[in-house]
Amino acid sequence: QEKAIATPSKTKEILQKHGFSFKKSLGQNFLIDTQILKNIIHHAGIDKETGAIEIGPGMGALTEQLAIHADEVVAFEIDQRLVPILKETLQGYDNVSIINKDILEADIQKEIEEHFKKGQPVKIVANLPYYITTPILMKLLMEKLPISSITVMIQKEVAERMAASPSSKSYGSLSIAVQYYTDAKVVMNVPKTVFMPQPNVDSSVLHLTLREEPPVQVEDENYFFDLVQASFAQRRKTLNNNLARHFAETYTKQEIAELIKQADIEGSRRGEALSMEEFARLANTFYRKGL
Ligand code: SAM
Repeated sequence: QEKAIATPSKTKEILQKHGFSFKKSLGQNFLIDTQILKNIIHHAGIDKETGAIEIGPGMGALTEQLAIHADEVVAFEIDQRLVPILKETLQGYDNVSIINKDILEADIQKEIEEHFKKGQPVKIVANLPYYITTPILMKLLMEKLPISSITVMIQKEVAERMAASPSSKSYGSLSIAVQYYTDAKVVMNVPKTVFMPQPNVDSSVLHLTLREEPPVQVEDENYFFDLVQASFAQRRKTLNNNLARHFAETYTKQEIAELIKQADIEGSRRGEALSMEEFARLANTFYRKGL
């Protein structure tokens, strides 16, 4: 096999040949370490049955590994300048489709139906552009796509927040939002030195296994997520305080304290101490009261 794309020398060679200049605004930090990519493929559980979706193929470093290990690869790249480069770097593979679209605008469901076999397991694998990590992941989760897992390299601190447990310093509304849809784990920490150019932040690989059913039953998902967010509005404040502020137009402080008690939760606790089950109980109690 030819030299892999993800090495410093090969990456420099491609850059020079095409006169490519990185766009910081698109989060272009390319991977130049083949071993890291192989580890990502391993954690993602990619095999010859898998249909793989990549977001932001760049010059094809990860795409190449996906082409080798998966059945079929569909990659969404926003930067038109990369399309001819990818055509060249991936010319040896006949199982890759490059779609020149912004992932936030793309009809992913349609592309899945078009490119993958019926019933084939579909997994998302990406070294994400860090400036839109959360919008991308929330889009993937909220669209309820027929995918089984998402394995992404993202900013370390964001990965920790998404996978955090109650009472840890990273726990917040983002942890609840992600864990409502998935089982979330940080599987690797990655140093800055494996990117070109090097980013300013440390990175981690987050592995999300999609749930078939939410882990808690909520009466209304939007209401639940709103209440969770309100509970963390001011981290150092108690539930009594944060919720009194959130519901200031609807309920008195007394009524709020009463409702929290009714949900069997201490109003003097902070949001950061509550489990997802407790948040569900709290949201359902408030929701029913409002009916
Ligand atoms: N996968 C390559 C690698 O690992 O070397 C490149 C990863 S780089 C961190 C992120 C890639 O996402 C860039 O190629 C960038 O152009 C692309 N990108 C940025 N915003 C995007 C968007 N909204 N939709 C699709 N691709 C995007």
